[in-house]
Amino acid sequence: MAASDAKGNGTMTHAIGDFVHAYQEEGKIIGVACSSCGYKTATSIQRCPRCGVANLKEVEFPKKGKVLSFSVQNVPSDEFLNDAPYAYVLVELEDGTRVSGWMPEVKKIGDLAIGEPVRWKASYKPGMVFEKEAGGPQ
Ligand SMILES: [Zn+2]
Repeated sequence: MAASDAKGNGTMTHAIGDFVHAYQEEGKIIGVACSSCGYKTATSIQRCPRCGVANLKEVEFPKKGKVLSFSVQNVPSDEFLNDAPYAYVLVELEDGTRVSGWMPEVKKIGDLAIGEPVRWKASYKPGMVFEKEAGGPQ
């Protein structure tokens, strides 16, 4: 009997919550990179969405980037009720990795511009918080 049980597999069991913790405790943006094709993401994944390989390694991302796209959220999910309005942002980091996050300081469309430089900010809040690199309201 060649019984192979699933417990012995070294599966990556990172939950989104673990990643959020990692950001907070180490002051870094931690994600994964595919060992085969080089695809990188700050999202928790088990396999590379591009080539299907499960051989992923942990990498640290640059903290600075620029805004590719954003929208102002007036009706947020429960976790963000006390923060609305805020901007949901798509950010391209300096190494080209695209991540989504949010910016509590942006309250209306005119508060932010496409291409504006931003930096990731350590926070106890869920998700990735960004702030304007130029220094917004303190
Ligand atoms: Zn890949």
